[in-house]
Amino acid sequence: MRARSTGQREERQQAFKCGLEIHIQLDTRRKLFCGCATTMAEKEPTGVVVRKQHPVASELGEIDVAAQYEFLRDRVFHYQVFRNETCLVDLDEEPPHPVNPEALQIALQIAMLLNCDIPPEVHVMRKTVIDGSNTAGFQRTMVVGTSGFLSFKDREVPISYLTLEEDAAGIIREEDGIVTYRLNRLGVPLVEIGTGLLEGYSPEDVQEIAYTIGIISKSTGRVKRGIGTIRQDVNISVRPEGRVELKGVQDLGVLSKVIRTEVQRQLGLDTVKHETRAIRPDGTSEFLRPLPGSARMYPETDLPPIVLGKDFLAKIRRELPESWTKKLERFARELKLSDQLARQILRSDYLSLFEKIVNSVDVEPSVVASAFLSTLKDLEKRSGVKVENLTDQHFEDLFKLLAEKTILKEALPEILKDAAERPDQRIYDVVKSLNLGLLTESELREIVSRVLKKEHASAEKAVGLVMSQVRGRADPQMVIALVKEMSKSYR
Ligand SMILES: [Zn+2]
Repeated sequence: MRARSTGQREERQQAFKCGLEIHIQLDTRRKLFCGCATTMAEKEPTGVVVRKQHPVASELGEIDVAAQYEFLRDRVFHYQVFRNETCLVDLDEEPPHPVNPEALQIALQIAMLLNCDIPPEVHVMRKTVIDGSNTAGFQRTMVVGTSGFLSFKDREVPISYLTLEEDAAGIIREEDGIVTYRLNRLGVPLVEIGTGLLEGYSPEDVQEIAYTIGIISKSTGRVKRGIGTIRQDVNISVRPEGRVELKGVQDLGVLSKVIRTEVQRQLGLDTVKHETRAIRPDGTSEFLRPLPGSARMYPETDLPPIVLGKDFLAKIRRELPESWTKKLERFARELKLSDQLARQILRSDYLSLFEKIVNSVDVEPSVVASAFLSTLKDLEKRSGVKVENLTDQHFEDLFKLLAEKTILKEALPEILKDAAERPDQRIYDVVKSLNLGLLTESELREIVSRVLKKEHASAEKAVGLVMSQVRGRADPQMVIALVKEMSKSYR
């Protein structure tokens, strides 16, 4: 087995086998097994429930290695509860409600887009989890698709399975034997997509495959965006014995580096232990726990199987969203996006919002795309702006003002920054309070006239002086034209 050479950089690439597990949160209104909202918007918990968990032998009569390991750590769990976002189901004090049909439908769409076989019935199963991240001690999961594939570089990448499951509670901190979780994430629907064994690919290829799975899922327009909404695990082995699972890669862009680092680490070891490792922010990893055994699944007795009728499935198939390859072509043809910009927006979390805006507002698609791609990234990196505070409504209002020529595109960064810092404001109020509305021609004439009178400046210098006063509020071409016209009378 040898990695195919895809250029000089790959020449010394060590062959490896890997498998991906990608978890993607679905953007439904309600959780998977209860009526709670999936917004995760509440900042402050309304209370804390304290529990201690004990591993229970599963109905198959075994407690696996991973469970025992967690048990030995003997910890206490604090569960934060939130208004509208947690209920008795989340606390495991009420049986689960029937599976949220909205979530099932999105999961089926993704399974079909990945060419999976769809089972005639969906069975809810329990998967033992003893790290406290599920109050019940298990996670509910159901297989929605098997044996699919996606096309990548003239090959078919095998997709082993797609499951619909409930997300676990999010960990806040762990100190002095107390683990604090927030329960608002518990029960948010997510799909887990598992690839078959990937062999003969470079780390960059594997990263591209992960991106492609993300793009296919996003094409439903029904997945959540932001940090932590897509998480992936990768299993890697360089030798027949010894498999390592790397858990929790949150940024798809570092996956190739993570794989490269792990391949090197394993090559430097005499024997590779079967274990789960957590990814550090720098792309290296640390030991988390032994790799879980396989006796972890048993049927959920509180919920009957769901029969997937032929007509129901046929309807979903008929209404499948446009494939991402078609979308890419259309973005170039109809929206006149460059190939690079089109590919970037397809990968972006803002894909569906981008489409909504360019379909409803008369504004240059490339301007919208670069706002989502570069402006937001700049604000985040350079000014530490929390762009996740910005809502769909903020963006829709912003581009409406741009289309109406109430503001200029040069003003976008400043408006977005202020809106993200005080997200309760509406965009109209931000524009007003920052005084970033476009100047009328007579207002602009007044400013030009003042500069020319006071500064006795040359036309060239006057343009600079005027621009520094009106940046973001006047079209530079118009400033140049007015200065040119008006400077004649001040000579
Ligand atoms: Zn709930």
